[in-house]
Amino acid sequence: MEYEPVIGLEVHAQLLTRSKMFCACSADYAGAPPNTHVCPVCLGMPGSLPVINQTAVESTILTALAFHCEIPEFAKFDRKNYHYPDLMKGYQISQYDLPLSVNGFVLIDDAGTIKRIGVRRVHLEEDTAKLFHVDGASLIDVNRAGVPLMEIVSEPDMRSVEQAHLYALKLRQILRYLGVSSGDMEKGAMRFEANISLRPKGSTALSPTRVEIKNLNSLRAMVHATEFEIARQTKLLQAGGTVEQETMGWDEARNATFTQRSKEDAHDYRYFPEPDLPRLQVSREWVAAIRARLPELPDEKRERLMREWGLSAYDAGVITAEKEIADYYDRTVQAGKARGADAKTIANWVTGELFRLMKDRNEEIGAVKIAPTQIPDLVALVNAGTLSNTIAKTVFEEMYASGRDARAIVEERGLAQISDRGALEGVVEQVLAENPKPVGDYLAGKVATAKFLVGQVMKATRGQANPALVNEIVILKLQAMKKA
Ligand SMILES: [Zn+2]
Repeated sequence: MEYEPVIGLEVHAQLLTRSKMFCACSADYAGAPPNTHVCPVCLGMPGSLPVINQTAVESTILTALAFHCEIPEFAKFDRKNYHYPDLMKGYQISQYDLPLSVNGFVLIDDAGTIKRIGVRRVHLEEDTAKLFHVDGASLIDVNRAGVPLMEIVSEPDMRSVEQAHLYALKLRQILRYLGVSSGDMEKGAMRFEANISLRPKGSTALSPTRVEIKNLNSLRAMVHATEFEIARQTKLLQAGGTVEQETMGWDEARNATFTQRSKEDAHDYRYFPEPDLPRLQVSREWVAAIRARLPELPDEKRERLMREWGLSAYDAGVITAEKEIADYYDRTVQAGKARGADAKTIANWVTGELFRLMKDRNEEIGAVKIAPTQIPDLVALVNAGTLSNTIAKTVFEEMYASGRDARAIVEERGLAQISDRGALEGVVEQVLAENPKPVGDYLAGKVATAKFLVGQVMKATRGQANPALVNEIVILKLQAMKKA
């Protein structure tokens, strides 16, 4: 029998807030010495009281709105009880039956097919402390405890590992556009849990037994663990076995999942309302004010670049893939308006030469020395006929390496295009004299050889000749020879 995977993802994203979720400690703990971003609240001292971080709530609602979620009028925080040393209070403040948002969706582009992935809920909780296991001892760093953590729970709508990958990438892209999370997996700002079950292909029923894989700390781990788990379950079912409902971990070194514990049900966590926090009343005015802050999101931006500026779907896609690149492009287009450089030409430079150089040198857009105003200056030089396209690429490379202005490079290196008719006529005459065979071929009717001769002139001028003018002079001279 053939099976298809049914995959759901839970994505945890740390929010970029100044302070932690329920206390005034700084949430920017990266690189800080252990246990320095702590206070009685996030250390879980008896008698300390939590206070809700308004920015975290607004960031979660903003994200939920970007996912087209409904925002109920009331939300509630609950205690999720379980025993693990990374939990300072013995429970985590999370949201159970009244989350901040429900019923949204995200669109992914699976090889040209747009697929809708349901977002069941987006809620808010607090991150846990971090454990380090060293030489038989376990050390704890509480800096991470209490950092606002947004949980985005998808519906089990993904049918392949590729779709799960695309969905995770889309989430991260949107979170970065919104500026609510860095999505930086190397720093643990984004983590995944995957639910996986198999069903006979063509069936619409959901399997009652699903396997949950926890602690997937990178996209790569999520993809590998999901692939592994699908293969494991397929083998099991095909051998006539059954899949047990369980919670598994992912062993990066062995590249295999392992059983952690049989799956808890929600009642195992003994959720109950957090008595120290009021129920949140989410007024429609508040939601409207947050909605007004929604920026242009990647899909909208991509559509706009295609519609307004005639960019190809591919170019618009690569430019909007990362917010930093989209921002860089926007600023460049803005600067181009005053310099007569159009958005499409700028897109060609960005997706062509700029991306090529960034790839060659393995650099991110943040490290690029060319300022947004500098590309339009280069385009203007090409438009004015001062630079040929070929020479412009050389100038661009130099700009990339040094961050200097195009005009300064052109002047210093004498790269301006030769549009002096007299000077070019001399070069053309020399090239024709040196190439009797192609000239003879042309005169015998093989007009295509004119192209070769133009190429020779361009070579002789190191690409600096104005190609249109060279073409014109070559044809005129050859025609004159024909008549003579
Ligand atoms: Zn604190």
